[in-house]
Amino acid sequence: MKKKPSCPACNKGKLKPVQDIVTELGGYAFVEKGERCSHCKEEFMPEKEGQKTISAARKLGLWEKR
Ligand SMILES: [Zn+2]
Repeated sequence: MKKKPSCPACNKGKLKPVQDIVTELGGYAFVEKGERCSHCKEEFMPEKEGQKTISAARKLGLWEKR
């Protein structure tokens, strides 16, 4: 059985893989892979991609260490 990805935000749209999610941090724009809902345009990013952005931001000194 094929599982259809559906949007957890609106439950109507389908999630499409995209490669142009832009996250802005401290004036820098990070482009990441993820998924975007076809209905509400909500963007979802796998945790792995988020970690990449965080480590890149850390290198630039944009992310505060806790
Ligand atoms: Zn949605």
